[in-house]
Amino acid sequence: MEQKKTVRIRTKQLHVDTGEIIPAVVGCCPQQPLEILPFESEADTVLADNIHVALARCDPHVHARESVVPSRDEFERYRLREASFEQTLAAVHRANAGYNVYRASLAALKGGVWLIGCMGNTPWAPVGLKRWEQTCQLYWHNSLVYTHVWPRMEPGTVPINHQQAKDFGSTFGGSGLSPAERDEMYQEYAGCDVSYHNDQARPDQTLAEFFSHNNGPPEVRFHWYFNEETVLASQRETIALARAHGLRSLLTRHVPTGSAFRMLIAEREQGGLLLPIEVGLDYLYWNRDMVIGHPTGMINYRRPALPSPEEQDGLIEELRRHSDDPSVYIASDHAPHRPEDKAFRNAKPGSPGTRLLELST
Ligand SMILES: [Zn+2]
Repeated sequence: MEQKKTVRIRTKQLHVDTGEIIPAVVGCCPQQPLEILPFESEADTVLADNIHVALARCDPHVHARESVVPSRDEFERYRLREASFEQTLAAVHRANAGYNVYRASLAALKGGVWLIGCMGNTPWAPVGLKRWEQTCQLYWHNSLVYTHVWPRMEPGTVPINHQQAKDFGSTFGGSGLSPAERDEMYQEYAGCDVSYHNDQARPDQTLAEFFSHNNGPPEVRFHWYFNEETVLASQRETIALARAHGLRSLLTRHVPTGSAFRMLIAEREQGGLLLPIEVGLDYLYWNRDMVIGHPTGMINYRRPALPSPEEQDGLIEELRRHSDDPSVYIASDHAPHRPEDKAFRNAKPGSPGTRLLELST
């Protein structure tokens, strides 16, 4: 880095933007564009045949969904709210059979992504230093790309030095914490960095109640319930918590609408708290009108829900306006599940998470 010298790396597996994998030499020099040279060119480093190189993209929000398998001893020592070893183990094996970090890294390579940031909503979640370290080790070992795991923020745990924690408190299928529990949890994080999920159930009615009296097309009702209001309410509540407890930064994940984006920009003007903004990739492709009558309408749901066409236009406009701001970025929320697992059951969506781009395009 200091000498600004070009390093040439020869690989048989360079992933390029066309989707092809080609043999090449990649020239890297600090502050210069990468060079792609013929495979026969001189090289400083020759990578093994099975090592892949993907250029430049990073995706700080993916769900590899693989879980560490704790021993009985580790379970006793590091358990948090888990009551039964057998039940935890069964949930871990179920999760690991569905998807894993190796497959997530293949998906990343296919998309030209060389660095992924993985979420900790797994059965033996990366909560507390020991469990987080275990999960990092597992992910580093099994992934083909640079991989980070965000430690999970839970009541009763202390922050891990220099690590941004993820708050799943408001997430459907997540911790389901009460406002009082979240408030207590944030107390521990003064001066620290946190990211959060930015929507929550409506205070006046449940999803099932809403479904029982709403007669819109079934594929769009979910997106009407979790609408712009549920996003703004969650952002308002969480930013207030972060300010009250003196956090250093609060990253809003998967911003889905123009108004949610503008609210964060307005909050930045108050100073103090840093407010990075993650825009959800699929909100740029999909709005809620598009799912009506669409063959994949009943699995094209996610949290936060899809925006209205107007709110989608607003989001794209804001993203363009802030395109040179490094604290504004796009992430995929890649979270594959089988179509059966994503289907509705008892007026509730199945496994949450995004597989919109894989399943529906
Ligand atoms: Zn996610």
